[in-house]
Order: sequence, then structure tokens, then C-alpha cells
Amino acid sequence: MVSSIEKLLKFAKLEIDRGYDNRSVFGGLNYIAPLWDQEAKSQKIDSALVENITAILAAYDSYNLEQRKVAIAEIISTLSEGAQAGPAAAESAPASRPTSATGVEQPTQRATRPPEPTGSQPRPAPAETPSQPAKMVELSAPLTVLSGIGSKKYAQLKKLGLETIGDLLYFFPRRYDDYSKLKPINRLEYGEKVTVIGTVMSESTRTSRGGKTITELIVSDTTSFLRVNFFNNPYAAARYKTGDQLVLSGKIDTYLGRLVMNHPDIELIDQQHLHTNRIVPVYPLVEGITQKDIRSHVSRVVERYAPLVADPLPSFIRKEAGIPDLRRALQQVHYPDNEDLLKQARRRFAFEEIFYIQLGVLSQKRSWKAASAASYSITDDYLAQQIQRLPFPLTGAQRRVLDEIRADLASGSPMNRLLQGDVGSGKTIIAALAVLVIAQNNAQSAIMAPTSILADQHYRNLTRLLTQPIAEDEQPPLRPEEIRLLVGDTPESERQEIRAGLSSGEIKLLIGTHALIEDGVEFNQLQLAVIDEQHRFGVNQRARLRAKGQNPHLLVMTATPIPRSMALTVYGDLDLSIMDEMPQGRQPVNTHVLSPRERERAYSLIQSQITSGHQAFIICPLVEQPDDDQPDPDLEKKAAVQEYERLQTSVFPHLKLGLLHGRMKPDEKDAVMRKFQQKVFDILVSTSVVEVGVDIPNATVILIEGANRFGLAQLHQFRGRVGRGGDAAYCILVPEKEDAVENERLMVMTQTNDGFVLAEKDLEQRGPGQFLGTRQSGFSELKMASLSDVHLIEKARGLAHQLFERDPELQNPENLELSRRLQAFWKSGKGDQS
Ligand code: ADP
Ligand code: MG
Repeated sequence: MVSSIEKLLKFAKLEIDRGYDNRSVFGGLNYIAPLWDQEAKSQKIDSALVENITAILAAYDSYNLEQRKVAIAEIISTLSEGAQAGPAAAESAPASRPTSATGVEQPTQRATRPPEPTGSQPRPAPAETPSQPAKMVELSAPLTVLSGIGSKKYAQLKKLGLETIGDLLYFFPRRYDDYSKLKPINRLEYGEKVTVIGTVMSESTRTSRGGKTITELIVSDTTSFLRVNFFNNPYAAARYKTGDQLVLSGKIDTYLGRLVMNHPDIELIDQQHLHTNRIVPVYPLVEGITQKDIRSHVSRVVERYAPLVADPLPSFIRKEAGIPDLRRALQQVHYPDNEDLLKQARRRFAFEEIFYIQLGVLSQKRSWKAASAASYSITDDYLAQQIQRLPFPLTGAQRRVLDEIRADLASGSPMNRLLQGDVGSGKTIIAALAVLVIAQNNAQSAIMAPTSILADQHYRNLTRLLTQPIAEDEQPPLRPEEIRLLVGDTPESERQEIRAGLSSGEIKLLIGTHALIEDGVEFNQLQLAVIDEQHRFGVNQRARLRAKGQNPHLLVMTATPIPRSMALTVYGDLDLSIMDEMPQGRQPVNTHVLSPRERERAYSLIQSQITSGHQAFIICPLVEQPDDDQPDPDLEKKAAVQEYERLQTSVFPHLKLGLLHGRMKPDEKDAVMRKFQQKVFDILVSTSVVEVGVDIPNATVILIEGANRFGLAQLHQFRGRVGRGGDAAYCILVPEKEDAVENERLMVMTQTNDGFVLAEKDLEQRGPGQFLGTRQSGFSELKMASLSDVHLIEKARGLAHQLFERDPELQNPENLELSRRLQAFWKSGKGDQS
């Protein structure tokens, strides 16, 4: 064995014997660090290994007892390995092999090393991390094991969510400054995103005509000047003084014909990097921590730990996905050698996140499929006869979906199906026919809707469909008393009756709101649970409905078209049915974008529709909220009330107007909707709360103010409120400003009535945030992955399938690390299942 290694191993073992008092060598291990470094390097030991060890030695004095134990164990195991691989390996090795931490109490989470096959193994090529868990290091060790991080620094780092070595390794830069490609100011072009370096020449603050405070820095490099503006944020600029040298990153815009940069990311220059000519990471910061601090912590951790971390992704997965191994990805994501390697590294982490999601949703799906459920079917003849009850033929899409559902119900394992169909595509009929299958077999069904008015609508529709005889001697599937409605204001006496009917099994179909999932509502045999407008419910509510039966069949319905990439992810555990066909004769809603000046035209259209006996919706603009994370519903209410009063007094004084806003209680909202339905109001003025699928066939116009603030998918939902009767219907979009570029976006609405097309566009334009309701909020915390990358998602899903084929429980040793990470991922709330 090489003498430097041998020597250090001896000291390390002595340390253990002495109880880690740092007296095994004169002056302490920290003292010999530089000497050892020199000696080891001169003996041609792998320099990365030497540096790791040196770093540990140098910090040894600052460690507490626990940390010292970990450090020594690490030294011993790394050295034993290095000894095998080093130049003198052949003559030494097996004997001194891994019992490594002999006598050291291993912290419990530390992976124990499986004994390795005999003999010296070739050291793997540096780009590949061996996939066996043997390489796992103590990533859960607190950051205080690092020198230079005491309790004060630790507390600050904690604010960034950084507590352990692992956290720091995975603390990805928020952007990069490419010092190799800085642009001089005189070469900047409109629209580009750039980083420039310059000196602050002056700063000033003024107030615009609109009342905005504008703070301006003038920055210069030797080539030209650049104006840098901050609106209503004097503090952002106040940190910098004339003469400061800054690195500014942002998008180049124009103002009055001159190039400007608004709200850039700014940092004081780090002289050190100016000359390095490389891509430098920029991390998120908090008070008390500088970019320099973080960079130095990260670079030490990456250097020392990245080579030791076990890659959770099996190599066949990495190969198929075409991504680098973890060690390389970690190194490149923090200190990229070039843009291409950075891209690969980011792709790897994006893949990893999506892969975990897919493993999670697929394993959920597998376990659902593995459960057993009662099997229900009806004959084709009977179904054909029942379809005769409908006043119209089913669309092709309805037939297809019906077949899928019949197959599920008959399959013997519980149905878990998401039915997506645009507003008005006829989902209710499908639910009714599924109920029919169950009722025909004498079992119970439940349908839950988000509002009582919607529940009531379903109750009336289904009663009509399922209880009226078509011919005189015909026996309808259900008797009227076998269908009941349960909502918030159902009187207690009736509730008692319903509870009794449910537990005796007399009631075959219960329709209602959240009241359905309250305690005390007990079914005799709930076999089918249908959830309408499912995005209005939380995970728990859906789970509670399901828990009212034993493995009941589940059908969730939504009118929000979900792009494929999202459906595979957020609803990846469900089977998907899509109704992409509208009933015949449905006229597309005539959609127009009017400029604010043309608003009068919209009002006269509304007036004329009302004169001919119809009704109208007017949607108020979203209110600008001072704090986007915590929107204030009172502000919105105030704006809505104002708009309502304005319309009532100065635009439509002779008409009856109703008002609906988010501050109203559910039953107040319901009451207003009901009055609108009963034509008490001619016009309903509403904030965005009106979205849900209530049928007001008599409404033929919807005017949407501030249309530019809504996503296309949501506008499409609004539009779906009209055109539900046979008459021509209109949707008028009025953006806040004339001629703004963003108004272009709205033109798509006039070109298509296809919700899926609009949803895809929306995802492109606005990102996934708005699709993420309660179920999926966690998905938005993904660090790297984009939920709109359908290729990556499909790849990850396919590979997740393959992995489960090979190792269904992820129990093979090579998958242990993966399984551990997977659990951590789902536990951290990234995923969230119903
Ligand atoms: P959604 O999918 O938005 O829930 P609904 O189920 O409320 O749609 O159906 C919207 C309207 O279309 C209802 O009035 C319904 O009776 C009608 N409808 C459903 N299917 C058809 C069809 N195949 N042909 C004609 N009209 C239909
Ligand atoms: Mg509906």
C-alpha cells in the first residue's frame, strides 16, 4: 500500500481508539492536512480523492464528536478504496478492505457496504458512477460538518431550505452568468436576454404621470450607456451607489426609442470571476448570505461529495433516456464546462423528477388495478333499448366512452377513470348510463357536484332520464323515490329519511354536494362514485367519497381540457377518456375581440338580446392585487360591486341586474344563480366565480371585461356558459388596453371553439400553474422539470413501466437507492395522490 495512505489509515484508526480527541497526531489532523496532501499527490494518488480527504482533515478540528465519527469513517472507507485503485493496489488490498469502519459506530442511516468480490477492481471511468449503493455517503449530515459553517451560518442557510449536505448538492442555481460571453452595451439588441457588466454612473428617482415611482440607474461600460429601470421599487435600486460595478442580467426592452433594461437581476461584480472566463452559477440568496459564500460552500460540497453519491437511476434507464450520471450532472449543473453539458445536466434532473412522478402515479395505478371490485354489466340489447329514452342519438365520442366505462365496470377491478369533455359535450348522460348499469344490478351510486344548483340540475336531469317509462308497459330503470338529492340545506327530517334509505339500500342513487361526504351518510353498498367538475374538489374530499364504499368504481369528470402532458402527470394514475366531439347542431359561439372604445357595441348587443327575451353574463376583470401570493378577495368584491353599480345606474338603468362574487357564501351564490335561472335578472354581473357548469340555456351573450388577464382555458370555460340552448350565442372579449401585443393572444379565441387546442396554447403561454388545483399543487414545486414537455414525460413513463416489469417492488439491490429517493420525493409533498 502507498505509504501516505497507510499512514493516514493508521492515524484514523488511532483516532478511533483514542475516542476522536484529535490527538492521534501531533498538532491534530488538521495540522497535517497540507503535508499529507503534498505527499499523497506526489505518490500519484487520484487528486480528487486526495482533495476530498484533505478537506475533511482540514476541518476535523471544528467537528463535534458525531461529526468526527462520520469523518473518520469516511476517510477510512475512501482510503481503503483508493488503496485498491492506486498504483500500488495490486500488492495490497483485499485484506485491508472495507470492514472499513471497524469499531466505528455507524450512524444508522448510513448504508452498509455489501462485501465486494475479491481482488482489485478496476476503478470505473470517472464519468460513470457505479450504481451499487456502496457509494452512498452521509448526505443527511448537517451542513455544520463543513468547515466555515457554524450555528449562525447554519441558521441563515436554513432559511434557504438548506440543512444537509444533500440539500446543498441539490441547491440548483437560479441562473448562470456566462462570463465567457458577455456583451458590450453598444451591441445589445432589443428583446434579447443578456448579461452585461457596467459601472453605475448615476441614479435618480421620479414619479410618472400614472403615479408610478421610477428609479433609474445609468450604467456604463466603456462602449455605451444603458438605462436600468425599476418601477415602484426604489429599494431594489437603492442598494447600489454611483461607482459600483455591477453584473446585470435581464431582457432588453425599449423606452422612447432607447434600449433599457427593466427589473434586471443585479449583483455586485465578483472580481474573481471576471477573469475566469467561464459559466458561473448564481444562486438564490437570503439576508446574511452572499453569492460568494454560497458558491464556495457548494463548490466544496460538489467537489467532495458528488463523486461519492449513489446514482438512484439504474444505468439502463440513464442509457435509454440519454442522460448523464448523477456525479457528472451535479458537477455540471453547478459549474458547467459549457452550455451543452449544462443542458444535459439539467435534462437529467428534469428527467429524474418526472421519473419519480411517473413511478409514483404508475405504482398507484398498479395497486388500484390489483384490487378487486364487484363486476357489473348489462346486455347490449338492454342498453340499446335504454338509449332510446334519450331525446337524441349519442355522439360517436359518447359511445366510445360508454364502451370504455362498461368494460371497466365489468373488469373485476375498480374503475378509476377521468372523463374529460369540453363544456357541453354531454358528460351527464354518460354518468347517467353508468348509474344505470349499477342500478340494474341493484347496487348504489353517488354523484357529487360542487354546488347545490348543479346538484339540483343533475337531480332533475337524471330523474327525468332514469324514471320515466318510454312505453306504457315499460319498466324504467329506477323509481323516482330511488333517487334522492342531498345538499347543504336539505332539512333534517329529510336527511334522516335519506340516511335510512341509504343504509337499507332502498335509495339507489344519491346526488348532492359536499353534504354527501359528511359523517353519518352511510351507504348499504356504494359501488359507483361519480365526481363532477372534479377540479373543484380537494384530494381529501374525493378520497372521502370513495371511502363510503369498498373499492367502488370511480368516475371523475372535468370540463377543463387538460393537455396530454399534464394528464399523464397530474392524473397519471387514472385511465383517461376524452370526449372530443360536440353533439350535432351545436352552433359555435360567435366570438369577437372588441377594443375598450368599442364597448358600446357590446352593450347594444346585450340590449338587443335581452329585448328578444334572452339573458346575458358580464364578467368583471380580475383585480390587480398588490400581493399575488395572497390575493385579497375583498378587493375583488369591491371592484365587482363598483362595476355592478355603474352598469345598473348608467348603462342598463331599466334592466334587472344580479351580482355574484367570491365573497358570498355558497348558498348566497346559489340563490343568485337560481334567480338568474328563473329570469329574475336580465344580466348577471360576476367575477370569475361563475365558471362551473350550470345550464342557463336562455343566456346568449357573455361579455368578458379585462379579457387579457384570463388564460385561454378559462375564457373558454366562460364562453361555455352560453350557447347551451338552440339560439345563436355571442362571446365578447374586451381587453383592458387598446392595441397591446398581448391582445393578439385573444384572437385564438375567435378562431377555434376547441377546448383542447386552447388548453395546449394556454399551457404554452402561461405554464402549468393554472392547471394545478388542490390535488396537484405539489407538482408546481418541481425544480427543473417542465410539465409541458410531453416527450420527456412519455419517455419517463415508458421507462417507469419497464422498470416495474423488471422489479415491481423496487426491491433489487440496484434499485434500493431509487426506492429510497422515490419515497422521499413523494413524502416531501411533491406528489400528492387522491
Ligand atoms: P357537460 O359535458 O358540459 O356536462 P351536459 O351533460 O350538461 O354537458 O350536456 C349539455 C347539453 O347537451 C345538455 O342539454 C344535454 O341534454 C345535451 N346533450 C348531451 N348529449 C347530447 C347528444 N348526443 N346530442 C344532443 N344533445 C346532447
Ligand atoms: Mg357538466
